[in-house]
Amino acid sequence: DPPTNENEPATKTLFKFDTVINLKIYGDDESAKHLKKIEQMLDDVDQQINMSNKDSEIHAINQAAGKQAVKVSRETFDLMKVSVDYAKDTQGAFDPSIGPLVSLWKIGNGGEHVPDAKLIDQAKSLVNYQDIIMDEANLTIKLAKEGMSLDLGGIGKGYAADLVADYLHKEQIESAIIDLGGSSIIAIGRKPSGEQWRIGLQDPDRKRGEQLAIIQLDNETIDSSGVYERFFMENGVRYHHILDPKTGFPTQNGLKSVTIVGGTATDADVLSTAVVVMDLEEGMAYMNQKQNVEAMFITEDNRIYLTSGLKGKINLTNTRYTLVE
Ligand code: ADP
Repeated sequence: DPPTNENEPATKTLFKFDTVINLKIYGDDESAKHLKKIEQMLDDVDQQINMSNKDSEIHAINQAAGKQAVKVSRETFDLMKVSVDYAKDTQGAFDPSIGPLVSLWKIGNGGEHVPDAKLIDQAKSLVNYQDIIMDEANLTIKLAKEGMSLDLGGIGKGYAADLVADYLHKEQIESAIIDLGGSSIIAIGRKPSGEQWRIGLQDPDRKRGEQLAIIQLDNETIDSSGVYERFFMENGVRYHHILDPKTGFPTQNGLKSVTIVGGTATDADVLSTAVVVMDLEEGMAYMNQKQNVEAMFITEDNRIYLTSGLKGKINLTNTRYTLVE
């Protein structure tokens, strides 16, 4: 929609990447043009990396698993390089070759039962980022074993958000919000009034849009991942969509969600997933040795733990949670 006055943004809502995308651009006469361009960009990214899109490069790599190397675009190659580097850095907590486990569990896509243990073992044995063979000179990628598959669900939204942000920076937009499903948010600049943005952080136990805290910031990225997004229950256990490559099961480690603040949206998207897989202690140690990226951890018992850079910056708005100092 076009803005009605100069403090109102031009807005667009799209449904892509299985999620609702909200775009807001403030104070630019050409915002309608920008929003159109961005929509096209997001379509292109989907075409490039969505493994369930039969025309995508990732789909082609998956189809050729165990058989041949597939030539890809520079963009896809670079994204895979970042993915594999993060897999190494997180010692496999984040693993872009998680595909066989995602397909087996089908969480959020009709899976309602714990799969057979044998099948879990089989799928797990195919998940290993070290079996992604990348040839930079020829821009090819090969999955070493038949049955392997890439799944970029843990990085794709961040990557897309970064592309949109790059575009808006290039167009010298000074005030905008890019929100991919409430879990990947880039705030560009400040509000047109000059104040900082006030961003609500999702309450993991409540429906979309209900917040547990507010954070004030400018020019920043926020990404959340949690065990609440997509799941089914069996015998009182919650089976959700973040899988531990080591066990082959959805993580069960006392963490309910992790929010990353800072870095690129790609960084933040990967880190939020990876740190949920670690656990509070390991994840906190991992995040503390990273510069300029902060984390908020929420445990199953509703306690909130922050890395040092976030202390004093989170305003709790919900009394069910306790901030641990
Ligand atoms: P969303 O914001 O869509 O809920 P997340 O950023 O939390 O997604 O990432 C979850 C998605 O990442 C899963 O749906 C799956 O596609 C993929 N995934 C699950 N476990 C892992 C893992 N250990 N490493 C990499 N990707 C994963």
